[in-house]
Amino acid sequence: MEKIIIHIPHSSTVIPEEYRGLFFLNNDELADEILRMTDRYTDDLFGSFGHKIIFPISRLVCDVERFRSEKQESMTGKGMWVCYERTSDQRTLKTVSVEHKKEILENWYDIHHKKLTLMSERALRLCNQCLIVDAHSFPSKALSYENTRRNRPDICLGTDEYHTPTGLIRQCADLFSALGYRVAVNIPFAGCLIPMKYYRKDQRVAGIMIEINRSLYMDENTGIKSEGYLTVKEDITAVLRDLIHFNT
Ligand SMILES: [Zn+2]
Repeated sequence: MEKIIIHIPHSSTVIPEEYRGLFFLNNDELADEILRMTDRYTDDLFGSFGHKIIFPISRLVCDVERFRSEKQESMTGKGMWVCYERTSDQRTLKTVSVEHKKEILENWYDIHHKKLTLMSERALRLCNQCLIVDAHSFPSKALSYENTRRNRPDICLGTDEYHTPTGLIRQCADLFSALGYRVAVNIPFAGCLIPMKYYRKDQRVAGIMIEINRSLYMDENTGIKSEGYLTVKEDITAVLRDLIHFNT
């Protein structure tokens, strides 16, 4: 149990008051962008098992899933590095000064990553291995910033060639398939988050990203939970519970 860490970076809709003034969007536009970009309810859907780490504010203010270095991060070109400057349809989102970037990195990004690193260290100390499940959801229709508009599965598994053992991918895919879900690997989103301390250095730290198609559990136009919500939550819990048997 100690060895499984559930990382939930995109569930929050909270824009702290002190950052609201930086946005160029009016309240309705901001609410729409939050609806499009938030992995709503993932804190609850993935919340029944393992040690959780939930980022407490919206990704529109700080996206902890991005690389800290602007150069290393592939989304920087789309204005969607840690501090987003553009919306999902590439309109201007907010003012991002050098001071603002520094503040967000130090006060939000680094604190979150430090916490995740400490949890991983603890898992390694106790179990000599660690599995970070990167928990997300995605819209059933591609947003304009996305690179691929190919088929949208029910479940997308994101993997890293160094940190995701093949057996783990198969196990996870089989578990979801057996529950009736259409599973794809690295489509439409690829990769999974690993703390920089271990990134490409220590294979005892394994990772996999699990992304749920939002149409399975919510009305994507309103953000209201749909009929399938509880089933999806139970199925995710069952899969996570089974992953305890993985080995790096
Ligand atoms: Zn996400």
